[in-house]
Amino acid sequence: MKITLLGTGDAPGTPEIGCSCAACADAKNGTKSNRTRFSILVQTEQGNVLVDTSPDMRIQLLRANIGHIDGVIWTHGHYDHYGGFPEFYRIQREVHVYGYPETVDYISEMVHFLEPVKHYANFYEPFSLIGLEFSLFEVVHPPETHPAGVMISDGKNKVVISGDSEKDISEKSLEYIQNPDLFIVDAIVPAHMEVNKHMNSKQALEIAEKIRAKRTVLTHLGHFYKPHDIEVKENKLPLGYDGMEFEFE
Ligand SMILES: [Zn+2]
Ligand SMILES: [Zn+2]
Ligand SMILES: [Zn+2]
Repeated sequence: MKITLLGTGDAPGTPEIGCSCAACADAKNGTKSNRTRFSILVQTEQGNVLVDTSPDMRIQLLRANIGHIDGVIWTHGHYDHYGGFPEFYRIQREVHVYGYPETVDYISEMVHFLEPVKHYANFYEPFSLIGLEFSLFEVVHPPETHPAGVMISDGKNKVVISGDSEKDISEKSLEYIQNPDLFIVDAIVPAHMEVNKHMNSKQALEIAEKIRAKRTVLTHLGHFYKPHDIEVKENKLPLGYDGMEFEFE
């Protein structure tokens, strides 16, 4: 199993249009501060699955040299997580899409001209794709009523993706996602900033500790952080970056 962070930015991405802050200025030089919108690629020898279809999906698939997608899993119905789906136009028909019923219905309606093939998944009920077991768990991301995180297992290794979430994830979900080998978690702002609907880096790392994650990487990062290399060096934060890969045997 191979996991690639295709996009590690928040909804506007970094650089943000019209912004000249330190992170955006650094991003314009093509550094790791340059962050496209959220998407994660999951690969095995049997195929490719996308967790969310970023508005930057076209450039992400070109960069990753991916020609075919065997399944899309949507975490929730926010633009930065599904907006790139129409990029399948004239590229791939009958894309299979998975998610909580309400999420799949909502997004499929927005992109109805592409006729996605819908598959409903309930929370905590595993389904198989490309030789892996995927399951959704409930997170907290108002005003979404059923936002999901995604857990992936190859039988030996467990990868957990928090989705967009506040820190107050239910005990049931926290129990479900215990002991991941890799925890990919929403940390839209640094520790000194308060935030709704998402977590800051401190809250994200606290959840990581609570579920005993072996390795943690922060994603869905806004331009509120210092430039990537400075933040990693000064504050030792495990920031993700576009194109970051994790291989499991
Ligand atoms: Zn900025
Ligand atoms: Zn969201
Ligand atoms: Zn988002």
